[in-house]
Amino acid sequence: MSAEGSRKPQVVVVGGQFAGRRAAKLLRRGGKFGVTLVDAKSFWEYTPGALRCLVEPRATRRLLQPHPPGTVNATAVGFETAKTQEGDTVKSVKLKDGSNLRADYVVLATGSSYVSPIKAASDKPCSVEDRKKNIMAAHNNLASAPSVLIVGGGTVGVELAAEIVGVWGKSKSVTIITPHSRLLERMPPRAGILAQRWLTKKGVRVILNDRIENWGGSKTGGDPALKPSGGAWKLQTRGGEELHASLVYPCIGGAPAAAPAEKSSASSLGPRGEVKVDGSFRVEGLRNVFAVGDCAGTAEEKTAFTADLNATAVAHNIRAEHDGKRVKDYPKVCGTQSVPSIAVVSLYKWSAVMQFNKLVFGGPVPALVKWFIETMQVHAAKETPVLTELWDAVEQTNVFLGGFLFK
Ligand SMILES: Cc1cc2nc3c(=O)[nH]c(=O)nc-3n(C[C@H](O)[C@H](O)[C@H](O)COP(=O)(O)OP(=O)(O)OC[C@H]3O[C@@H](n4cnc5c(N)ncnc54)[C@H](O)[C@@H]3O)c2cc1C
Repeated sequence: MSAEGSRKPQVVVVGGQFAGRRAAKLLRRGGKFGVTLVDAKSFWEYTPGALRCLVEPRATRRLLQPHPPGTVNATAVGFETAKTQEGDTVKSVKLKDGSNLRADYVVLATGSSYVSPIKAASDKPCSVEDRKKNIMAAHNNLASAPSVLIVGGGTVGVELAAEIVGVWGKSKSVTIITPHSRLLERMPPRAGILAQRWLTKKGVRVILNDRIENWGGSKTGGDPALKPSGGAWKLQTRGGEELHASLVYPCIGGAPAAAPAEKSSASSLGPRGEVKVDGSFRVEGLRNVFAVGDCAGTAEEKTAFTADLNATAVAHNIRAEHDGKRVKDYPKVCGTQSVPSIAVVSLYKWSAVMQFNKLVFGGPVPALVKWFIETMQVHAAKETPVLTELWDAVEQTNVFLGGFLFK
C-alpha cells in the first residue's frame, strides 16, 4: 500500500531485512498505522546462511524470499524535514526516482554493508535472479580455487573456512589469519579454542597475532577474484610471512549503511557512519525518526537477534508516543534489564559453537540450534502462521532466560 493519501498516521520503514520486517509487521497489527516497507533489494535474504549459499548455491532456494506484496522496491536517499518546536521533523522520505513517501514516523533499518558476494550491495537494486547469479559466480570461483586465504578470524571468517573445508575437505588449502591472539575474539575464549580445534582437525591453517600488510593486488572489497593467470596472489604479513592463495576473502567486518540520514543530517551520524540514537533509538536531531538494527549506533553486538529486539522496542515506543504514553528505554521496553549474549557459529553442517551468556559449548547440539534458528527465521520472514508466533515466543523466552541464566 502506498503511504500517500491515507488519513492514518503513516510509518515508513526503510530496510526490509530482520529489523525492518519485524518493525513493519508489529506496527501493522491492529490497523492503527499505515505502514510502508521500502527496500532497495527485491528480496529478503537469510544473511547468516549466505556462506552456505557460496558453497552450496541450491540453498538460495530456501534462504532468499521475495518481499511480500506491497513492499516498495526503491532506494531511500533522504528526508524532507520541517523545523518544529520539538526539533527537526521528517515529513517525507525521498526515493531515488524523485518521489516522496509521506511519513509521520520513520524507522530506519538500513543495516550494514559487507563485502560482496557475502552480502548484496545494501542500497542498490538487486533481483533474486541477480543475487543467485552473483552467488553462482562466487561458487564457481571457490570451486576452482586450489587455495583460499580468509582474512579475519571473527564469526564470518570462521564460518566461511568451515563451509569450504566442509564441502571440499583437504583438497583445498585453506588459511585463516587474524591479528588477535585467538579466533572469535568477541566471544568468550573457549569459543575460539573450540573453533580452532575443529578447523585445525579439518586441515585449515590458523595464523594468529598477524595481519596482512600488503594485499599483493588481491581485492580488499568487492567480489574476490581468482588470480587471472591461474596462479596465486602473493600477500605479505606484518610478521614478514609471504602467503600465497588463488582466492582471498576479506572478512574484516561490515560498515553501517545509513544513506538517508547522511543526506539529511550529517550530525546524526557517528564516526563509522552509524546513526546516533538515544536510549529509545530516536535519531539525534530528528524527532520522529528511529534507527534500529545494524545501522544504529549502539554498543550491543550486531546480530539478527538484537535487530529483532530493537524493532520490537521501536514498534512499542511508536505506539506509545502516538497514544500519548511514556516512551521507554531499551531494553527495559522488552521486559529485561540486559540483552543476553547469544551467538551460534556454525562449523559446517554437523557442528557449531554456541554462546549463551557465559556458557560456551560445541558439537552437534549447537548445530541443531542453528538449524532451528534458520528454519524459524525463514518462516518468520514468510510470516507463516503459527511458526511466526512461535518464533516470537522463542525469542521472548531467550530474553527472559538470558536475564539470569549463566550470567
Ligand atoms: C555472513 C554473515 C553471517 C551472520 N551470521 C549471523 C548469525 O549467525 N546470527 C545472527 O544473529 N546474526 C548474524 N549476522 C548478523 C546479521 O545478519 C545482522 O546483524 C542482521 O542482518 C542485521 O539486520 P538489519 O535488518 O539491521 O540489517 P540488514 O540485514 O543489513 O538489512 C538492511 C536492509 O536495508 C536495505 N537498505 C539499505 N539501505 C537502503 C536504502 N537507502 N533504501 C532502501 N533500502 C535500503 C538493504 O538492502 C537490506 O535489505 C551475520 C552477518 C553476516 C554478514
